[in-house]
Amino acid sequence: MSAVDLDRVRELEARSRTLHPQLALRRDLLAAVDDHVQEWLERLPGLPGYGPDGQPAVDALQDAPITEQPRPLGEVLEIVGRGVDHVGVNESSGSFFGYIPGSGLYFGALADYHAAVVNRYAGVYYAAPGAVRLGRACIEWLAGVLGYPTDCGGDITSGGSIANLSALVTARDACDLRSDGFAESVIYLSSQTHHAVDKAIRIAGLGDAQRRLVPLDDRHRMRADALARLVDEDRRSGLRPFLVVASAGATDTGAVDPLDAIADVCEQRSLWFHVDAAYGGAFALTADGARRLRGIARSDSVVVDPHKGFFLPFGTGVVLVKDRAHMAQAFAGTASYLEDAMASEPDVVTSPAELSPELTRPFRALRWWLSLQLAGVDAFRAALEEKLLLARHAHDRIGALDGFEVGPRPDLSVFTFRHVANGDPDATNRALIDAIHADGRIYVSATVLDNRYTPRFAVLNCRTHLAEVDRAVDVIAELAGRVTASVQDR
Ligand SMILES: *Cc1c(COP(=O)(O)O)cnc(C)c1O
Repeated sequence: MSAVDLDRVRELEARSRTLHPQLALRRDLLAAVDDHVQEWLERLPGLPGYGPDGQPAVDALQDAPITEQPRPLGEVLEIVGRGVDHVGVNESSGSFFGYIPGSGLYFGALADYHAAVVNRYAGVYYAAPGAVRLGRACIEWLAGVLGYPTDCGGDITSGGSIANLSALVTARDACDLRSDGFAESVIYLSSQTHHAVDKAIRIAGLGDAQRRLVPLDDRHRMRADALARLVDEDRRSGLRPFLVVASAGATDTGAVDPLDAIADVCEQRSLWFHVDAAYGGAFALTADGARRLRGIARSDSVVVDPHKGFFLPFGTGVVLVKDRAHMAQAFAGTASYLEDAMASEPDVVTSPAELSPELTRPFRALRWWLSLQLAGVDAFRAALEEKLLLARHAHDRIGALDGFEVGPRPDLSVFTFRHVANGDPDATNRALIDAIHADGRIYVSATVLDNRYTPRFAVLNCRTHLAEVDRAVDVIAELAGRVTASVQDR
């Protein structure tokens, strides 16, 4: 065996040491990144809600192939600025009213920087008791807001999709479903259920389960009486109803299903009651939202997306499961090399890895906790009530525009509208949305509702205030006038 060539080791060390820059350089790098984002933030109010041209991304990345040699930060930031920061939809803009708006709360970004540098191993209590307790504090705070017991199971996930998946896997195992029974088991949802739930059902292996679309009332809410009837019919025909998925803030219409009435049906018939409140859950902080969400505390599991209603940077979802033992059973896992690591203090705090498919994970909780600490809960409560009122104000104003009809007054902060002045409303509304996207000052998206192409207006960005909403309505009115004129010219 020949000795290791230590000269080679020293030479490699000289080359690899650049991976950890020293203090003066670290400060310079951080200042340069900070300059870049502060300039972007200062320009943000004037930036368009949408940059429809994707070509700058192609060009910028062509100019920056990944090579063996380092590239100066200034050059890299220029590439990102040109190819990323202004391309596509701008969810951070107060003039963004599409889909469910994001925000990118600044406090959360600060936490991400800290969390990434310190890099605590947040999935395992033994490895990072502080990080795990901090995450648990966020979960218990949310449990309190929703009326869940503070000893519930909970996990901070990457988003609502994975949170729904965790809930469904927990429900599947808690109801003791085995693969030979999947085909007889029945899941109840509605045409307004988010497609992430359908995806989760299939990933959970339940693709062969029966799915019933429960009829809706005229405001696109699940009808509890129809649900009860469907469940009873299915039972009589020998099937095994086990899971009801309600929406608390449907993405298309913002409609909140009647959670209390659905909870009655589930309790009487021993069904697992899951609420997808990815969008709407945060509104429980407001008096009006809490009233609309009444019954949410009676669910067995619930999903909330803090990267929606708590305005955090993307990558933050939560699932709560009322009975923590069910979650622990669904996600139990052991490995001999983790023997010490997984031995949590009993009944104190469960390691996130024991309540989740993930082992290693980013320390997501810090962005939520730090934001709640630095802003205080009152700022979130005020912002959420503001969004509820702004959505109603926009609904009133668009409803009063010539040639427009609006969907129901919003349960939360999303509503639909249609421009109906011309012959073919589908074509007119497509033309209107195209015009809004080409114009770029604001962003609005559309859905298909009852087979009709339907624009919708969603208020949830933390930078959206009265001036942004009023301007958006003015832009819609202006562009609708132009669309009408051009359709009539044809
Ligand atoms: C956004 C949303 C989801 C999906 O959550 P992601 O965070 O995008 O993965 C699921 N359900 C509802 C109701 C949503 O609004």
